Parts: sequence; C-alpha cells; structure tokens
Amino acid sequence: MITVDNLVKSFPARGGAVRALDGVTLEVQAGAVCGVVGPSGSGKSTLARCIALLERPDSGAIRVDGTDLVTLDGNRLRAARRQIGVVPQGDSLLRQRTAAGNVALPLETAGVDGPTRRRRVGELLDLVGLTDKAASYPDQLSGGQRQRIAVARALAANPSVLLADEPTSALDPETTGSVLTVLDRARAELGVTVVVVTHDMAVVRRICDDVAVLDGGRIVENGRLLDLVSDVDSRTANALLPALD
Ligand code: ADP
Ligand code: MG
Repeated sequence: MITVDNLVKSFPARGGAVRALDGVTLEVQAGAVCGVVGPSGSGKSTLARCIALLERPDSGAIRVDGTDLVTLDGNRLRAARRQIGVVPQGDSLLRQRTAAGNVALPLETAGVDGPTRRRRVGELLDLVGLTDKAASYPDQLSGGQRQRIAVARALAANPSVLLADEPTSALDPETTGSVLTVLDRARAELGVTVVVVTHDMAVVRRICDDVAVLDGGRIVENGRLLDLVSDVDSRTANALLPALD
C-alpha cells in the first residue's frame, strides 16, 4: 500500500547539513496501523511530512497504491495530497472555528456543497464520538477531544491514508485511550491505512499491527509487531517489555 524506498532528506545546518532521513526503506500494509517510533530527533516527523507531501525528499520514492508521489506536481500532486489525511504534531485546530467548523474546513476548500458538507461533518463527529460538541470551540474542549476533532478533520476528504504525528503526546493515559479508539475505528470502519508517529510504546502495543523503529534517520527495525515482540533480541521487544503488564 505505502512503500518508502531509500528516502533521503537533509536540512541545512551550521557546519554542514543534517541528514534527517538517511536512506529510509519501509513498507506499510493496506488497512493496517503502522507505528513509527524512535527517540527525539530520529526523523519521525520528517518521514511523516515527506509521506504527507508537505516536505520534498532529496531522493528516493514514496509509492501509494503504486504511484510514486515524489515525481508528481501541479494538479496530480494536489490530488495525491487529498489521499492523505494528516493530524499534525501539537494543537492544530483553528481557535476561531467550532469543532464542526474545523471538520468542515477541508470540505469547504474542496468546494463540497453545503448539504453534503453538513451530512459528512455529522458522520465524522459521530465516528469520533463528539456529536454533542459540534458547536463547541477548541478552548471549550479537552485535549483528547481536540485531537479527536483533528482526526475527524483529517478524515473529511475521505483519504486512503491517515497520518498522525504524536497524536497522544500531551495526553494522560485515559484520554490517550479515547484517541486511539478513534484511530482504530477509522481503520475498521473506513478502511484507511493508519501511520501513527509516537514515542510511547504503550500506543504501539494498543493499536499497531506493524512497527518501524527509526534511529538517526535510519530504520533499525520494521515488521509485524507480533513477530518483533517474540524475537528476544529485537529493539521493539526490549522497548515494549516495560510497557507489558
Ligand atoms: P523527530 O520527529 O523524530 O523528533 P524530526 O524529524 O523532527 O525528528 O527531526 C530529525 C532531524 O532533522 C533533527 O536533527 C532536526 O533538528 C532536523 N530537522 C527537522 N526539521 C528541520 C527543519 N525544518 N530545518 C532544519 N532541521 C530540521
Ligand atoms: Mg516529531
């Protein structure tokens, strides 16, 4: 479904360049939830931003359903971007818009008519369990509710891929659960492929089928979570052990 092939991305820095991604190769199965984990600065957000086409890699390929996204431009690039819904890192809702208004924004941009828009926003608020918060503004919502609205907004244009960058990093464990439930429903009910960037192994344990471990811009481990946890030498198993009961 998503294949990332030898992706390289550098940023200019004092005294040379930082290779944020140093030849990343990765496969995400269609309809799966893939966790991207790794220490701070390992390249997780850069990888997510490249897959979301918000950042252009120096070299390498990103294929979604066989199409290499890196080579697209103009209308084809815009169409490919709509296939990928993004929950950005941090607080990303517009404060001057209600929850429903935030979810509607991508539909307004895409020129979807009013009645269709309202119906779709209703479905999405229902999916994330916040129908009763439609008219609330972001500062009237809890952190977890805001993230669930951000997920609903990312799903508005019916993407085939949902990318969430640290969607639970500011949340307590209980609230984290409500956001993970929503990501899981997106996969189960809408069939989207989910990529979730996280430094929290409890998140991986709860919802991921596959996991990719990044370190210094390189993938040091990638595979089915079940295979990796049963391999005593794997980094994923070692990192997960403290998170297992
Ligand atoms: P993570 O999300 O895993 O914490 P990032 O992808 O944000 O890591 O960053 C990876 C590396 O790339 C870091 O060394 C970071 O400083 C650098 N980097 C990321 N974005 C930029 C940017 N826009 N300009 C310069 N350096 C960047
Ligand atoms: Mg990051």
